[in-house]
Amino acid sequence: MRRYLVERGVKAEETLSFDTVIIGSGIAGLYAALNLDKRLSCAILTKEGVDISNSWLAQGGIAAAVSPGDKPQFHFEDTITAGAGLCNEKAVRVLVDEGPQDIASLVKLNVPFDLDEDGDLQTGREGGHRRNRIVHAHGDATGRETVKTLAAIASARENITFIQNVFLIDILTDDNRASGVLVYQDGYRIIAARNIIMCTGGIGQLYIHSTNPSIATGDGLAAAMRAGVPLANMEFIQFHPTGLYCKEPESRSFLISEAVRGEGGILINDNGERFMLGQHPMNELAPRDIVARGIMREMVRSGKDHVFLDITKESKEFLSLRFPTIYGECLKRGIDISETPIPVCPVQHYLMGGIVTDLNGMTKITGLYACGEAAYTGVHGANRLASNSMLECLVFGRRAAQHISGQAVSGSISLPAFPEPEKTEECEIDVLRLKKLIRETMSRDGWVIRRKADMEAGLKEINRLKESLETCTLKSKSLMETLNMATVGVQILTAALGRRESVGAHYRED
Ligand SMILES: Cc1cc2nc3c(=O)[nH]c(=O)nc-3n(C[C@H](O)[C@H](O)[C@H](O)COP(=O)(O)OP(=O)(O)OC[C@H]3O[C@@H](n4cnc5c(N)ncnc54)[C@H](O)[C@@H]3O)c2cc1C
Repeated sequence: MRRYLVERGVKAEETLSFDTVIIGSGIAGLYAALNLDKRLSCAILTKEGVDISNSWLAQGGIAAAVSPGDKPQFHFEDTITAGAGLCNEKAVRVLVDEGPQDIASLVKLNVPFDLDEDGDLQTGREGGHRRNRIVHAHGDATGRETVKTLAAIASARENITFIQNVFLIDILTDDNRASGVLVYQDGYRIIAARNIIMCTGGIGQLYIHSTNPSIATGDGLAAAMRAGVPLANMEFIQFHPTGLYCKEPESRSFLISEAVRGEGGILINDNGERFMLGQHPMNELAPRDIVARGIMREMVRSGKDHVFLDITKESKEFLSLRFPTIYGECLKRGIDISETPIPVCPVQHYLMGGIVTDLNGMTKITGLYACGEAAYTGVHGANRLASNSMLECLVFGRRAAQHISGQAVSGSISLPAFPEPEKTEECEIDVLRLKKLIRETMSRDGWVIRRKADMEAGLKEINRLKESLETCTLKSKSLMETLNMATVGVQILTAALGRRESVGAHYRED
């Protein structure tokens, strides 16, 4: 595998240095930054603006045992059940025990969570949760409200510098120690750092239908691999059962949150029949993989490319208040969800696997951490319990920051040398065609229901593409993204072929 994406002879135009560099301004990156010792200088780098991330789009909310009828132990049990026996129990304990304290911290930071009449946090319920424990803000705009609040505080902190519209190319290492990052922003730049936290989010852009935005091309995962850090559990991709169905695929599928089913929404087919009844004791609120497969089978049976989510039992007033984003977006497309069932189909949504870390977010390279969706802490096992991901961003983002803050700092930050890559050659590349090919292959061969022969064919295709790109001079961000996507695609299909049994979100029909 190629160590660096740049070619020989490229020069850095500027070198900056910080105690800590955080890649990503989603909830993991922002919350980690706010938990760093204020005496440490910190840069938050983000590929586009703060409003382009999975965090910004999160609707349902954040799960934590904060209501009187709930306990971390119940949350633990639900998380383990959803994870189908593959969770790291120690990591889940940390998540559920420390989660309520991080929600309390968000309240103190003035994240505008919705409150009940007594002024307590309102808690909703989603698939796989046996208690109401999802806190939410502005109804279904939890991610946006949380990011807005945290980003405003981070921007005002003297020790934090925001650098937007910058592309992380590679992580620089020196003798198994992270020494900085190589980035592109109007030229190549090196940013030297004592510690780096990778909070680069998901991989949805590898699929045709995904809820993830344009930035989700797996750059952080591929960069970590090139630096020698292993990825784990890459076969476990969560497909959300209810993306808003569109005839023509969109660059990002609009999500109809699980919370709609939590409020009593039912799944029906063309004939108005509830097909999830009897498939699982929790019917429509079964874990996401079970509902996604139930929908796929119903689509095959009916020959249709979607089913319907019916919440018409609720009034316009209730729905527009509880789900303002969903209500508004559907209305824009001519669907009044208080009157008409919503057409839905499964879409790629979340990556359970990622960069292997310990319980402090630390990877096997000293000074290199990973948190949030890009990381593999083991909390999700084979399937993520709804609304546990933002909690993971908070708990492990804070722990990484605390781990960094607890280290003694001495001496100046050493400047890494510009990497010496191997020689590459000029190639004619149609980047849009290659990205499309990756998406089509992954959506055909690495989707909700998998078969050995398909995965083998897909792996061959993506490997061929990856190998051809490895030797080319990559002159644009888009080309680098394409190689990153192919690198991650190979990991997903290899892991999926390697796991012969069906478990959690990984379902093999053979
Ligand atoms: C539509 C939708 C709804 C969701 N609803 C919920 C929910 O209700 N509850 C819940 O718990 N979870 C939900 N999730 C999942 C959750 O939002 C994410 O898992 C979580 O927010 C990920 O946060 P993050 O900080 O790890 O990554 P992100 O928020 O995705 O941020 C990634 C950051 O990395 C940066 N980045 C990536 N590559 C590069 C690069 N090469 N160079 C520089 N920067 C880079 C991006 O610019 C971005 O700032 C939802 C996800 C989606 C898509």
